[in-house]
Amino acid sequence: MKTLYIDEIPVMVTRKPVRNLRLNVDGSDGSIKLTVPKTVSEAGIRSFVGERRSWILKTRDKVLSRIIPHPVKFETGEILYVFGRPYNLTVKITKGKQKCEVMKCAEIVLRVRSGSTMEKRAKILNEWYRDQLKERIRGLIHHWEPVMGVKVKEFGVKQMKTRWGTCNPSAQRIWVNLELGKRDSKYLEYIVVHEMVHLMETSHNERFKALMDGYLKDWRTIRKELNNGIA
Ligand SMILES: [Zn+2]
Repeated sequence: MKTLYIDEIPVMVTRKPVRNLRLNVDGSDGSIKLTVPKTVSEAGIRSFVGERRSWILKTRDKVLSRIIPHPVKFETGEILYVFGRPYNLTVKITKGKQKCEVMKCAEIVLRVRSGSTMEKRAKILNEWYRDQLKERIRGLIHHWEPVMGVKVKEFGVKQMKTRWGTCNPSAQRIWVNLELGKRDSKYLEYIVVHEMVHLMETSHNERFKALMDGYLKDWRTIRKELNNGIA
């Protein structure tokens, strides 16, 4: 299998002894797969895909708009979400520093050593997500502290299975789920505000809800979307 970029669309091409070109948009992750007879040239592939560009984009958007971001194998051609936007992943082998970079055309390049495992790739990517989240959380705290009149002494990002965020009011510390790096940033803001409100009100009582209403009037809708996985 080989990934070809055709008009910035990554297409995973497999050559097989088939009669016709077969194009498929994967319903689980929106990746584009093309099965090609051995006799068709690369120019032939490009024109075939080019003619179907608008159908491909429309179908991919449809898939992407309804799927929940899910773990990937960290291979070239896969789709990664960063704050709700899809990016095409390209894995490149490096002898230098292993890292993750955002390129133009909605591409993320993951530079890894040859023979790197899926776990290692996940770790590099998760560290990168953590950095992106921390930067945004810092900005959100900076914005909301004077509005709410509270002080966050410490914050962090970690993988959590059952919660989007936590707050320790006595330590004035909040934690945010790493998963939020994949979702639209409105969910991150909702979680940060929610945890910051806990610095004033520890339970989810009427006072808590009234405070939330005052800060983010759409918070109920945002919460519902987040918990339904529609992001
Ligand atoms: Zn809460």
